This record gives sequence, structure tokens and C-alpha cells, in this order.
Amino acid sequence: MVVTRFAPSPNGSLHLGHAYSAIVAHDIAAKRGGRFLLRIEDIDGARSLPEKADEFRRDLEWLGLEWDEVPAQSSRLAAYEEVAQYLLHEGLLYPCTCTRKEIEAMAVRLGPEGAIYPGTCKGQKLDPAKPVALRLDVDRALAETGELFWEDEVHGTEIADPRGFGDVVLVRKDAPASYHLAATLDDAADGVTLVTRGEDLFGATHIHRVLQELLGLPVPIWHHHPILLDPSGEKLAKRRHSASLADRRAAGEDGRALADRLREGRFPAGITLATA
Ligand code: GLU
Ligand code: ZN
Repeated sequence: MVVTRFAPSPNGSLHLGHAYSAIVAHDIAAKRGGRFLLRIEDIDGARSLPEKADEFRRDLEWLGLEWDEVPAQSSRLAAYEEVAQYLLHEGLLYPCTCTRKEIEAMAVRLGPEGAIYPGTCKGQKLDPAKPVALRLDVDRALAETGELFWEDEVHGTEIADPRGFGDVVLVRKDAPASYHLAATLDDAADGVTLVTRGEDLFGATHIHRVLQELLGLPVPIWHHHPILLDPSGEKLAKRRHSASLADRRAAGEDGRALADRLREGRFPAGITLATA
């Protein structure tokens, strides 16, 4: 049975791009007789707002979607910590005290998530007074996993190559996991068989596939759908203009009719679907 999910972070309101993403995941599950899950990704400390999660539930209801909700990430911190300790013990993570500013000043290459960390702290004695993040030793991880592939319903077979991201952070200084670790563990714990999300997160899958292999997790299939663009050709963003679903709902718009228009590709003026 196919299990899809929508996994929003409650640090701002949802917009049309989120609605589109939730509808894609919901409709795939519905058409194939599967389940559609909602997971609140709330590990951003004070930036994760419980009232936003409530708002999201009302938004999805308004769009006419039905879902099963699985535990929010904030309830799973101990599980993340345990896995991080295991990876650390296996020599696959190393501590790093660098700040974002320091990394930007020293980085030689840019990756999809900004400056690529050049491994400065690896094997070094670090200042014990400084806060520590844990990074994945990507070369070591790949030496362990060998060549890996993943299947994407939209893009076909991909070679998993996380080296473009450098040694990514798996445990943040301010949280027991990063998005990569938490989302990968949760998709497995929630029994997700088809990871549906926007193409803007396509690159992250290279990392997630490696983590699955290191941890012996089940390997899902992915469905990275094209994302909605605003009139200037940029990705819709929580901060920029695009009206939130909550605003539309408050203004009395018919959510089910909006959902049907999104399904048919009839987007509001100026909004387009990115062509891959
Ligand atoms: N929580 C992530 C976000 O809101 C999405 C994670 C995912 O779909 O893998 O961007
Ligand atoms: Zn460092």
C-alpha cells in the first residue's frame, strides 16, 4: 500500500505552493488506495509555532483533504539523539564548532545549500567551550555504502551522490537533529513508501538515500513534483507577496474549488508551474 506525506514546518503560513504539494501527495494516495499522512516538522526551537500547526490543519480541511496525522518531530527528539550517537560511535560523524560566518569566509565551493563546508574541524582538537554541531563524514559514509541509487517517479533512476553538499550537519548546535536526519528517520518510522515533495528538495534526497543505507532503513520511492513560481519566476515563498492559505480562507474563498483548480493546472494570475 502506498503511503505519502505532507511535512510542513510551522514557522510561517502555508501558501499556494504548499497547497499544491499537499494535493499531489493526497491525490496519489487516494488514486492508489493508499494513505496520506501529515507530519509537523517542528524542530526549529522558538521558530516552530504550535498555532501554525493548527492553522495548517484548518488549511488542509478547507482544501477538502483528509489525512492521518503522525507524531510531530518535537516528540521524537530522543529517537534522533539515539541514532546520532550510533553514527558518532561508528565514526561517521564528527564535531564542528564553526559558525556560519566562519564557513562563508573559508568556503571554496558553493553547493545547493550555500557554502560547502571544507572539513576544517575533522580530526581537530576543538575548543570545549564552543557549541558543537555534528557533521556527516561523507567520504567515509560513501566508503561504507558503495554506490547507491534511488528511484523517482518523475525523474527516473538517480545515482545518490551527496558530495555536492559537503559534510552536511546532521545534529544542529541548537537541536538534536537537522532536517536531513529527522525527515529520513521519520519517513521510515511513519512507513512512508512514496516521498512526495517539491523539486526544490530534490538534492536533499542524495543525502537521505545515504542515511537510509547507513542505518538499514527501508528505501522508499520519491516523487519530486514541479514547484509553483510567482510572476517574477521565483519560487513562492512564505515571506514574499503570495497570499497565504489562511488569508484566502479568512477572505471567504472556497478552498475545495481552489484545490480543484490547482489539480487542473488553472493557477491564479501570474503563477506558473516550473518546467523541469
Ligand atoms: N519540512 C520541509 C519544508 O517545509 C519539507 C520536508 C520534506 O518534504 O521532506 O520545507
Ligand atoms: Zn568546523
